Amino acid sequence: MDSHSCDILILGGGMVGLSIAHQLLERGIASNITIIDKEPRLGLHSSGRNSGVLHAGLYYKPDSLKAKVCVEGARRLRSWVEDRDLPLNPCGKIIVPPRTELDAQLDVLAERGRANGAEVEFLDADQLRTIVPEARTASGRALWSPNTAVVKPISVVRRLRQELAARGVKMREGQHDFKARPTHQQLVLPDGTELSYGHLFNCTGLQADRVARVFGTGSQYTLLPFKGLYWQLRANCPFQPRTNLYPVPDLSVPFLGVHFTPSADATPVVSIGPTATLAFGRENYRGLKAVEPGMAAANIGVLARQYLTNRGGFRRYVHEQAFLALPPLLIRAAQELIPAVKPEHIELSQKVGIRSQLFNRKTEQMEDDFLCLAGPCSTHVLNAISPAFTASFALADLIIDQAVPELNLL
Ligand SMILES: Cc1cc2nc3c(=O)[nH]c(=O)nc-3n(C[C@H](O)[C@H](O)[C@H](O)COP(=O)(O)OP(=O)(O)OC[C@H]3O[C@@H](n4cnc5c(N)ncnc54)[C@H](O)[C@@H]3O)c2cc1C
Repeated sequence: MDSHSCDILILGGGMVGLSIAHQLLERGIASNITIIDKEPRLGLHSSGRNSGVLHAGLYYKPDSLKAKVCVEGARRLRSWVEDRDLPLNPCGKIIVPPRTELDAQLDVLAERGRANGAEVEFLDADQLRTIVPEARTASGRALWSPNTAVVKPISVVRRLRQELAARGVKMREGQHDFKARPTHQQLVLPDGTELSYGHLFNCTGLQADRVARVFGTGSQYTLLPFKGLYWQLRANCPFQPRTNLYPVPDLSVPFLGVHFTPSADATPVVSIGPTATLAFGRENYRGLKAVEPGMAAANIGVLARQYLTNRGGFRRYVHEQAFLALPPLLIRAAQELIPAVKPEHIELSQKVGIRSQLFNRKTEQMEDDFLCLAGPCSTHVLNAISPAFTASFALADLIIDQAVPELNLL
């Protein structure tokens, strides 16, 4: 039987796992690093299927982990992308209130943004129209975030993988169904190879709670998957917003509402979405192949209880966002931002992602912030939701720092 050993074993080669490897190398903490992914190639899940928006840090409560890492992470990832000449659209972002009663939320966002170190400006209706002539604000005000940008997520993942491999990180893709022996700090791979490690980082995204349980950690958490479908403006649509256009979000719900996002490509395609509809499998992007009936039934029970108790404003999510996969409702949501949108202007995009949302069975609440748990010689990243892509380099530093006493013993 083949056996190998490494100082650091990273499970999951999405943006979080890759960024941890990158920061461990950059900071000179470890160089004998192996990354294992169950898929034959990287980027098949959230890190290759997201909107690519480098968020500027407006939404997050100033004492949250998200706030701590978003602005710094966005700055670092943006300059990494620019240095490599990868696609980047420095298009900024506008947030508009679709209803007058939401206007006061602009002040909350501006305040949070400034506290988090983001640049924000208020626009009046005329200034808004100079940037997106067709856009509407119900109150006559909008918020402008000049530093929001859009990248092409899959090109970031591929380039990072390539550079890490060139710097000696061992990449082992296609390794599903490993056996874990946490007390021996060892994994047995499907081909029988025994892989010993000093410290393990679990960065398995949509599967992270299940993997954590194998290491005896995080038993009160379960992940609820929500499907994010995208539509896009047809090429012959008479208007094509040049900037991100978002509604004022309901800050008690984890999703930002359907928005317009120009891609980072040379000829940007404007997408509309993503939706956030309950998914019937964690990786059930299309069709029925990856449906998980047991998990779906359990999650429907959880969501029904959330609805009845209206925890975290959950009823509002159901009424305003849960059914946006239905085209008439999606068009109505899009028209709140750009009233001229008509059914003939949009088409379904090929792009679809699944948004993981961690649910705490003990508190019966959705977790709103990143969550990182310590296990035996291991660290488990359980709620790497948006803006984890944006923040990835800075988030990786935070995760590494949490594990540092143990890493020093390697
Ligand atoms: C629709 C959508 C839109 C989003 N938009 C944005 C945005 O605009 N900006 C932003 O900052 N964030 C956005 N996000 C969030 C962002 O995509 C995620 O926060 C980020 O990609 C999470 O990265 P990750 O590495 O944790 O997970 P992933 O990218 O899912 O990577 C996890 C990896 O682990 C592997 N894996 C799983 N199980 C195992 C196992 N048992 N063994 C080995 N490997 C395993 C998977 O194959 C995968 O490669 C969006 C997310 C979605 C779904």
